[in-house]
Amino acid sequence: MKESKPFRVLLYYHYVTIEDPETFAQAHLRFCKELGLKGRILVGREGLNGTLSGTTEQTQIYMDTLHRDLRFADMPFKIDEADGHVFKKMHVRPRKEIVALKLDQDIDPHQVTGKHLKPKEFYEAIQDENVLVIDARNNYETQIGRFRNAILPDVKNFRDLPEWIEHNLADYKDKRVLTYCTGGIRCEKFSGYLLRAGFHDVSQLEGGIVEYGKDPEVKGRLYDGKCYVFDQRISVPVNRTDEDVVVGHCHHCGKTCDRIVNCANPECNKQFICCEECEHEYHRSCSDACFHHPRNRYDQEVAQPAVRV
Ligand SMILES: [Zn+2]
Ligand SMILES: [Zn+2]
Repeated sequence: MKESKPFRVLLYYHYVTIEDPETFAQAHLRFCKELGLKGRILVGREGLNGTLSGTTEQTQIYMDTLHRDLRFADMPFKIDEADGHVFKKMHVRPRKEIVALKLDQDIDPHQVTGKHLKPKEFYEAIQDENVLVIDARNNYETQIGRFRNAILPDVKNFRDLPEWIEHNLADYKDKRVLTYCTGGIRCEKFSGYLLRAGFHDVSQLEGGIVEYGKDPEVKGRLYDGKCYVFDQRISVPVNRTDEDVVVGHCHHCGKTCDRIVNCANPECNKQFICCEECEHEYHRSCSDACFHHPRNRYDQEVAQPAVRV
């Protein structure tokens, strides 16, 4: 029997009206801190978007409490097991949008959004060579993993995606489009945007890559590499078959590698792919300027190694 780990990581979102995000955020922060949770939560008038870590018991109380609130009664939680916390602090922040697409005319997923496909349906749909599979994530996320044959928009921020689509895919509005992201929240709006922009047939992967990797039947098939996550784990496995491959190349030497590090210059802190040899050769720096930066942390860390997750 598989032994379970003492901690859990939760990932969740729900588009539902929250009347007073400021007050909600303050009370929710107190509640999370009292429970001993760590993580990041965004609260907007349009809903809730969060990722947290805590012990099995703490996270269970959190989920049960939210499920007793009518607004969140049917909110799904994606649950991973972990050895410890994957966040350092606990933040709950009020925001205009719980995922920032910053359109002049915002998308309400209750009004317009793509069809939801379960992992099995998505797996079958992406095998049709006439469909467009669009990755709705940012370029630094797709460099270590993505669906085979997916279109990877070269954008740094989610809010840049609509412009990229208009420039690159405006001639394909009659095609069937399939979108995916980490947990599904970005696709709720992105697929709605595509429909409003004139794409006729738009579907989205329900639960995102994270749920796709957990589906007992699909087992993450046709996803190559890892899934980037916004916590100290940096990435999680997806493809649980023997077809799993490493996607990505070392920033310095170019060899196949999916090891993401943070630049040792604290003022840069950029995440980039770097093999172990190059980490030492280049003092875990993304550039010459970072290598020679007076505050470069590498030397002091080598004297006293930091714990890497
Ligand atoms: Zn290298
Ligand atoms: Zn740097």
